[in-house]
Amino acid sequence: MDLDNRSWRQDLLQAYFCVEDLKQIQKISIPRQPCNDERFWSLETTGDYSVKSGYRLWKNKNEEELGELYTLVNWDRFWKLNIPLKVRLFAWIWIRDILPTGNQILDRTQRGNGGCPFCDLPETQKHIFQDCEWVRRVTRPTDMHLLFEKGEELTCEECFCSLQETENDEKLGKFLVALWFIWEQRNNQVWNKRKLEEWKIIPKAVE
Ligand SMILES: [Zn+2]
Repeated sequence: MDLDNRSWRQDLLQAYFCVEDLKQIQKISIPRQPCNDERFWSLETTGDYSVKSGYRLWKNKNEEELGELYTLVNWDRFWKLNIPLKVRLFAWIWIRDILPTGNQILDRTQRGNGGCPFCDLPETQKHIFQDCEWVRRVTRPTDMHLLFEKGEELTCEECFCSLQETENDEKLGKFLVALWFIWEQRNNQVWNKRKLEEWKIIPKAVE
């Protein structure tokens, strides 16, 4: 580096680096004033890495390489999971983000108020499985809350794909059963005004 002129020494770069590396190094701009190096994740304005931006980078890269028809979900693996058929069908609808939540029904049919049956906030899929305080409370003793990091805004498909990346089939199956069970509780509350005791939910959902 030429410290007086704040620029790269082309002669030294050419002497020590191959063409590809040289091009990458030349892209790095040198600050006008000397300062310490810092790590900065360019996909977030804060400069901090987040799972969401890392995942989207990976997803975009895959889509670029494999074309628009590429779907991130490993459906082969999904259909082979050892889970009851009703859970599988539910999960397929959940991944596609088309469950008839309060918000969906209000949007499509103008019926109802779109509110969550447990807390009255707008009921989206993300709300009922991830953000609803009631659901978070009853699932806290399980490790489900670890799978949904609060603040991460992954779509259901993105969430499932990232789980497919990190979890084995048994854990994936348990996760889907737990989601299905929450949806069952939600339906019981909506249609029968019946809310199960919390202690009954947890063992059933994860066993
Ligand atoms: Zn709620």
